[in-house]
Amino acid sequence: MMKSPVNPELSKSEREQMIHQIDTLAKQYQKENGRKPVIMEVCGSHTVALAQTGLKTRLDHAIRFISGPGCPVCVTDQSAIDQMISLVDQPGVILTTFGDMMRVPGSYATLMEKKQRGADIRIFYSPTEAVTIAENNPGQTVILLGIGFETTIPAILAAVREAEEKSVKNLQVYLSLKRIEPILSTLLNDPDLVVDGFILPGHVAMIVGERHFNFLNNRSIPGVISGFTLDEMLTSLKQYLDMLTAGTPGVINNYQAVVTAEGNPVARQWISEMLTPVKEAWRGLGEIPESGYAFTDRFSHFRVSSDLLTQTPHRVKKTGCRCGDVLTGKIQPLECALFDRICTPDNPVGPCMVSHEGSCSAAYEMKETIV
Ligand code: SF4
Repeated sequence: MMKSPVNPELSKSEREQMIHQIDTLAKQYQKENGRKPVIMEVCGSHTVALAQTGLKTRLDHAIRFISGPGCPVCVTDQSAIDQMISLVDQPGVILTTFGDMMRVPGSYATLMEKKQRGADIRIFYSPTEAVTIAENNPGQTVILLGIGFETTIPAILAAVREAEEKSVKNLQVYLSLKRIEPILSTLLNDPDLVVDGFILPGHVAMIVGERHFNFLNNRSIPGVISGFTLDEMLTSLKQYLDMLTAGTPGVINNYQAVVTAEGNPVARQWISEMLTPVKEAWRGLGEIPESGYAFTDRFSHFRVSSDLLTQTPHRVKKTGCRCGDVLTGKIQPLECALFDRICTPDNPVGPCMVSHEGSCSAAYEMKETIV
């Protein structure tokens, strides 16, 4: 694991100098390899940051940026979304969720449409709000939708622990959690995916620690754990290209202000105590072994009751959406035939256009140009 000093803020001239260096290194790579270097930003927040800082547009001629599967809403398989939506058809259920799930289309409805038709669906800012809702509604079953990567998992587990401490019996949790390491390993095994390095997710790294990404060392591919500001993104790109062009791949922690070698020890303890890895279905990728989590036996009483899941119709709806290809870096959002024609943030066809962190939404907002 290589180290880098904590980033000082760059002056305007230092920024321009760094952009020039990135440009030069990228062109050197292009000359030697006959194509632009390809870097995947794994996290949706990096996708948004690249677009909002203008870096993607500025460097698009030199680097091919591809978005990865780091937006939890986007990677949730449609069958799971249908299952979540069908839960509100059960009598006596209150569904609680982060707001970004509300407009994701299932094969026959969205949670928003269900709410408009009278379903009891409540949006929380913190999963612990679901515990309060359960306490206030003892005669009903309150279901917490547990969606997210390692970043969000501790907040969901905090709610479970609070319910346990308060002996709240009517809280159930629908888990559709995602683990970062199995998905990156799966992508690297995909013969159709060309990727030369990763901007690694800073928020996930804050929980799992920089050592978690040591598996990349065996794959000889550069990875930089990055923050989200313009200067952090710039220095991360420079570090990636330094490693790539020198042929010295490794993992650099360029977000040392918040990411330690071991991550958050309490969160990691909770994860190992309360969850066990299981296979999980990903949009566009199918089931991946050990890429999700289920409760351990000790906490299995919080698992959503199988009685509520039995009546879950799922029919695959063919929409032409190519979120699966976007999430695996095979196409850019603008290469989807529906982009900005049928699919817009006001009328999203797929989750990548729904979520603020989705690649298609970021591309739409910035109206990027593909070269
Ligand atoms: S533009 Fe819309 S339909 Fe196309 S991949 Fe993105 S979300 Fe799916």
